[in-house]
Amino acid sequence: MSVLEIKDLHVSVETDQGTKQILRGVNLTINEGEIHAIMGPNGSGKSTLAYTIAGHPKYHVESGSILLDGVEVLTMTVDERARAGMFLAMQYPVEIPGVSVTNFLRTAKTAIDGEAPPIRTWIKDVRGAMANLKMDKSFAERNVNEGFSGGEKKRNEILQLELLKPKFAVLDETDSGLDVDALKIVSEGVNRAKETTGLGLLLITHYTRILRYIKPDFVHVFVNGRVAEQGGPELADRLEEEGYDRYLTESNVG
Ligand code: ADP
Ligand code: MG
Ligand code: MG
Repeated sequence: MSVLEIKDLHVSVETDQGTKQILRGVNLTINEGEIHAIMGPNGSGKSTLAYTIAGHPKYHVESGSILLDGVEVLTMTVDERARAGMFLAMQYPVEIPGVSVTNFLRTAKTAIDGEAPPIRTWIKDVRGAMANLKMDKSFAERNVNEGFSGGEKKRNEILQLELLKPKFAVLDETDSGLDVDALKIVSEGVNRAKETTGLGLLLITHYTRILRYIKPDFVHVFVNGRVAEQGGPELADRLEEEGYDRYLTESNVG
């Protein structure tokens, strides 16, 4: 049973105006097979949490830790994080000229597993995963992210999820810019990964729409760099009705 633990995480960035504190003591525990939704107003630090888990160099960890099965993730390189079973969409460059989706995925799979997947089973796996996501076959031969639409980028993220089989994934605003059909397909992919490989997921979203298709086990309201409230799926329903205003008291802003 794998577990990802975020403990008292404090993170800052350097800005022109000096050091800016963004995360102010985040605590979260995600077990294998659990879906945790992180919801919250714009600017509350949700993406900063995602970038920090991914090891983005701009985000400076002042204190706290992120443990994957008891092992500190924060001292790992980005590659080591991926090999340890973390799925970090941000680690991949926006466009990779001259590298096809198939070759990119095979290289990533090889790096994570420590050996190349046999070519015939690999092609079969890629085709199967693409069919699941209703992706056109020609997609496999296109260069990574080159001229991808918003929806294609998101599907490509879920394709990676299906093929790389991480233990834990962070998806940041995966719902933004998706029409309902694409949202359903992407959500089915996530749900499949949960069922088949026991994926643990941190699903960051501003809106509740995606939670109609991906049912969270836990919902955390993120305000001013920390978890202000947590609950079950019913908390998302309440947020849908009431919005975030009640959390934005004076002491919570800025
Ligand atoms: P969210 O994803 O919840 O909208 P973010 O994590 O993107 O929030 O941002 C939280 C706060 O930190 C915002 O005030 C944002 O302007 C600031 N911030 C985030 N990243 C940077 C950065 N690289 N440089 C300066 N400020 C940043
Ligand atoms: Mg934002
Ligand atoms: Mg964000």
